[in-house]
Amino acid sequence: MIKTTQESLNSYHIELEAKHGAHNYKPLPVVLKKGLGVFLWDVDGKKYYDFLSAYSAVNQGHCHPKIISALHEQSSNLTLTSRAFYNDVLGGFERFLTDLFGYNKCLPMNSGVEAGETAVKLSRKWGYEKKGIEKNSAKIIFPEGNFWGRTLAAISSSTDPSSYNGFGPFMPGYDLIPYNDLVVLEKKLSDPNCAAFMFEPIQGEAGVIVPDSGYLREVRRLCSKYNVLMVADEIQTGIGRTGKMLATDYEDARPDILVLGKALSGGVLPVSAVLCDDPIMLCIKPGEHGSTFGGNPLSAAVATEALKVILDEGLIENAYNLGNIFRDKLQKFTKNSDLVKLVRGKGLLNAIVINDTPKSHTAWNICIKLRDNGLLAKPTHGNIIRFAPPLVITEEQLNECILIITDTLRSFEINK
Ligand code: PLP
Repeated sequence: MIKTTQESLNSYHIELEAKHGAHNYKPLPVVLKKGLGVFLWDVDGKKYYDFLSAYSAVNQGHCHPKIISALHEQSSNLTLTSRAFYNDVLGGFERFLTDLFGYNKCLPMNSGVEAGETAVKLSRKWGYEKKGIEKNSAKIIFPEGNFWGRTLAAISSSTDPSSYNGFGPFMPGYDLIPYNDLVVLEKKLSDPNCAAFMFEPIQGEAGVIVPDSGYLREVRRLCSKYNVLMVADEIQTGIGRTGKMLATDYEDARPDILVLGKALSGGVLPVSAVLCDDPIMLCIKPGEHGSTFGGNPLSAAVATEALKVILDEGLIENAYNLGNIFRDKLQKFTKNSDLVKLVRGKGLLNAIVINDTPKSHTAWNICIKLRDNGLLAKPTHGNIIRFAPPLVITEEQLNECILIITDTLRSFEINK
């Protein structure tokens, strides 16, 4: 089937996916073919600011030349050996990663959800071997609104019906508590069967929910008090996104288990990792956990370069400074707006809440209009729009984007 006009090219690709692909996503109708830095281009050649960054996987910007060059160089030498053998890149990456984050050891995986599951397995094993929890009785506590992926282990902790409906039976040994509630948390942690509290320091998919100041520090204190592992899922918040290397750095709340993914590869390959110290990590012995692709030399080379780019280009400081500008300006706009209820976030992980019921699709329509105006963002939970550009965005570009966003919102304000 040959399509002639540019316009038909867009719908051609959309129809192709609809016909041959599973319908497990509802993408914004835009077909992208090129990315560089903060920009994306569609098949018509139209240019957009990317304000999703592949759910914070592309913190370093699209196709960062240094990361792509590391990919090219390593891919012409060696890509995959499996962990049946050693390779000459993995050890250097592991040393770099553990030195950078201050842990004894790391365990590399691929997708974020695999790293989350690794953290759950490590927590259980530690619970039995070190804490002395009775066999098969370990509990992991999660806050409501958590999101750590789509496997059965992950959706078993979900409070979002679209994640879990129709997929039971679910994984036992989980317990849910409200997010940002230290009283309930302490009660649960005091249960001697409790092995871990696994949480996001800012809940990304739930709509960029920022806990009260002091929450992270208290979580740390309570986990230590009750000998429960503090497991921080920083897959979305980590690697500079919130204006610190880790969101837990804001309160010096060092997790016992740190879970990283997404931007660990700058959006080039699925690379994730779990970091912790020896008393936890060495609970897992040869043959008890792994993956064919986890720790492959290509991922190790790409991830090393992706982290260097974050450090060398001052992207953490940039996220911090530009995040403040973004929220200041949008908060000023919000004061006189009936449409936007509030703006929240940290660094360059932000969201606005639209005054709208999830069913009336205003947030979706705003995202369509933003697309028309040259900026790509996606609603989450119906009435929330997340704004998370690559951290390489400049102040000038950010100001231009703020204008696009506020002008677009204003046009809805008038039409409301
Ligand atoms: N954890 C968090 C906090 C996430 O936001 C996500 C994905 O959005 C995941 C885990 C799962 O990562 P992946 O989609 O790579 O499995």
